[in-house]
Amino acid sequence: MQELTHFIDGAMTKGTSGRFSDVFNPATGEVQAKLPIATKDEVDDVVASAAKAQVAWGNTNPQRRARVMMAMVGLMNRDMDKLAEALSREHGKTLPDAKGDLQRGLEVIEYCIGAPQMLKGEYTDGAGPGIDIFSMRQPVGVVAAIMPFNFPAMMPLWHVGPALVCGNSVVLKPSERDPSVPLMLAELFIEAGLPAGCFQVVNGDKDAVDALLDNETIGGVSFVGSTPIAQYIYARATANGKRAQCFGGAKNHMIVMPDADMDQAADALIGAGFGAAGERCMAISVAVPVGDETADRLVEALVPRIEKLRVAPYTDGDDVDYGPVVTAEAKKRILSLIDKGVEEGATLVVDNRDFSLQGYENGFFVGPHLFDHVTPDMEIYKQEIFGPVLATVRAKTYEDALKLAMDHEYGNGTAIFTRDGDTARDFAHRVNIGMVGINVPIPVPLAYHTFGGWKKSMFGDLNQHGPDSFKFYTRTKTVTSRWPSGIKEGGEFNFKAMD
Ligand code: NAD
Repeated sequence: MQELTHFIDGAMTKGTSGRFSDVFNPATGEVQAKLPIATKDEVDDVVASAAKAQVAWGNTNPQRRARVMMAMVGLMNRDMDKLAEALSREHGKTLPDAKGDLQRGLEVIEYCIGAPQMLKGEYTDGAGPGIDIFSMRQPVGVVAAIMPFNFPAMMPLWHVGPALVCGNSVVLKPSERDPSVPLMLAELFIEAGLPAGCFQVVNGDKDAVDALLDNETIGGVSFVGSTPIAQYIYARATANGKRAQCFGGAKNHMIVMPDADMDQAADALIGAGFGAAGERCMAISVAVPVGDETADRLVEALVPRIEKLRVAPYTDGDDVDYGPVVTAEAKKRILSLIDKGVEEGATLVVDNRDFSLQGYENGFFVGPHLFDHVTPDMEIYKQEIFGPVLATVRAKTYEDALKLAMDHEYGNGTAIFTRDGDTARDFAHRVNIGMVGINVPIPVPLAYHTFGGWKKSMFGDLNQHGPDSFKFYTRTKTVTSRWPSGIKEGGEFNFKAMD
């Protein structure tokens, strides 16, 4: 049995707690590795050595820090296949999906190469007699990143890249479900030229997270995961005087207007609803057709597409649509929510509750499910299912559809499919949700924009990646200087051309 490690001071390092958690292969259901679970003392030691390393790193000029990012891009591309394989083996997603996970992370590392431009600061010349003002962006110091299982490469990279290039040390606590790729990325950063100690990976559970939240040296906390934990982490981190950005769960609605291209809308829903087994925070889990006729046409277009979906392990080739969900508990929870939906009176149009894959009977596979006639009072509408389950809620009018999306407690992403520019514009303008797609089902902004939801999908002020990440991972210091002699005699400007 493989025994995984932490990554401390530039090397894979065994845990000392004697406690381990199981890392599964979700396709077979077998335990494939043991992961050390850190104690509070181990976490405190890791933070202390990250703080030591930060001093020189924070004083390294931004170009040099950016060069580490540049080298990292090359190394990740070199190792792409190896990283993707390790990712699929622990997470269960298909290889093309795993490469997408890595690629979207890599794009933020590419964005970080522009750090010298982002960190330039501001200057006012002559704010008063002999007075100049300048502001600089300085690192926060040591920051913590506590990450979810569903994008084990992309999510850490979205935080580690900007944090490092801004001159911080980072302590990453990856998900205990799929920690191998974060550990491999830490090793690659060292090969890219990052000094040891600046990027530490500490594995653990609530105890390790609480140790990070209570550690006085940690100046900032980035969290991505489910909403109850996001809320808890935000409260505890900020009560301890730290800056925090905590991204939570989602229930993303896609409005389908009567004038939408129905084939395009149905294809989009298949990818956005069932891709990665529905385990994406930007997955569409609610389809909202406007009008009964639209709803009937949509369901008719969806059913044959869903029946064609190929659910299999990532090793079965690139035409696999999606793989297993992450754990046996996740599978159990998804199936029990489907039962609840039936109990509550929704119509289960595609029912795969007895789905099983020959040769992989112990794997955590869940077949695709489609519900129609779901209503807002049902649990399958209220809760984030995080599985391959699409719920159809029929709306009478556009206003009803908009209200539905607005009234839901989550506000991560949403989409509208229509050919009408007026409706699309109105929707994008009025909806109280952080990321909006117009004929785009999963509107994940690119690295140079920012990513974040509203309402219970985000606690804090600054989003992930883009310019916000440079603000989150730096503190502004503003210097006002006065040199009382002002402009020296004879030192006035000479504006004559060619002089
Ligand atoms: P999770 O909340 O279970 O775990 C996230 C992290 O928190 C893990 O590192 C875990 O070890 C830690 N953790 C879990 N319980 C804790 C506790 N009681 N105290 C302290 N730490 C704890 O989330 P998950 O299942 O790994 O990820 C799926 C969730 O993440 C979904 O809700 C999804 O929507 C969300 N997500 C959100 C975004 C976003 O940007 N909004 C992106 C990706 C995933």
